[in-house]
Amino acid sequence: MNKKQIVEEALNEILKQKYDAELKATQNYNFAREKSKEFRKIDLLFRQKTFETGKNFSKENQKELNEIKQKWLLELKKLNLTESSLKPNYACKICNDTGYANGFKCVCLKKKLQKYLIKNSGLNSAIVHNFSQSSEEILKENLTLQKAHTLGKAYAEKFPNIKTKNLVFMGEVGTGKTFLLECIANELLKKEFYVVYVTAFNLSNTMLKALTVSPFESETILSPLLECDLLIVDDLGTEPMMRNVSVSNLFTILNEREINNKPTLISTNLSFDAIEDRYGNRLFSRIFNKRTTKVIKFVGSDLRIKTGR
Ligand SMILES: [Zn+2]
Repeated sequence: MNKKQIVEEALNEILKQKYDAELKATQNYNFAREKSKEFRKIDLLFRQKTFETGKNFSKENQKELNEIKQKWLLELKKLNLTESSLKPNYACKICNDTGYANGFKCVCLKKKLQKYLIKNSGLNSAIVHNFSQSSEEILKENLTLQKAHTLGKAYAEKFPNIKTKNLVFMGEVGTGKTFLLECIANELLKKEFYVVYVTAFNLSNTMLKALTVSPFESETILSPLLECDLLIVDDLGTEPMMRNVSVSNLFTILNEREINNKPTLISTNLSFDAIEDRYGNRLFSRIFNKRTTKVIKFVGSDLRIKTGR
């Protein structure tokens, strides 16, 4: 799925509401006309009079129209219908379920889009962290972490106009890397960017799967990784190592994204040396390309113990 398809999916859900609301109104009207001869008669009269009054406004015409309308309403009532039941009851009164108002995305479309972006991000919206949850106390104690947070916030604010677009978070388990990745992801999702979050473990599984299916399916599986606005690879180094597969696929993904100027964030518990040993020099140079990548080192005691996370 790419961003365009996600927008389409969200819009289609709204247009489906529009279709349903309009269908219901038409069905109610047709039902009234089929069911009741009196309604058919008074409805025709009501429409003629409305037209006439519109063309030739006079107090008398208006008075007559009002009287006809009362009868029309009465016939509807007999059928257990109301005037509003003959009009589409749109879920969004701002855009009448078109998704756009005054040429801009309506709030309802924005909300739906958000839902689909989160659904496609691989993040669990219920547990994902955001900047407002970062503890001032811990940040005060840990200056490296504080620096990382300031940088992460600025990154999310300026995105996608960032000078160094790739970040690599390095540090031991529990030093706050995933927390910060989630905060950045959350911020960008709010701004309607297409973010894809994967653990290196899942990424490795996805890539293996892509090898076993048809080229078309394989493209469908891999396209989010290549096309998303931001790819987040968490915990690089914890995936099972099937050397040729992992290294060449990861290289392809990072390389494609680089060529298309699409940012990638990586977190790892491994040291520089361990990464070079594990993935080889070619991928190492791709990950740590000085021109495009900033490395942030996380140090400190295990935050998960402190925060009970
Ligand atoms: Zn709307």
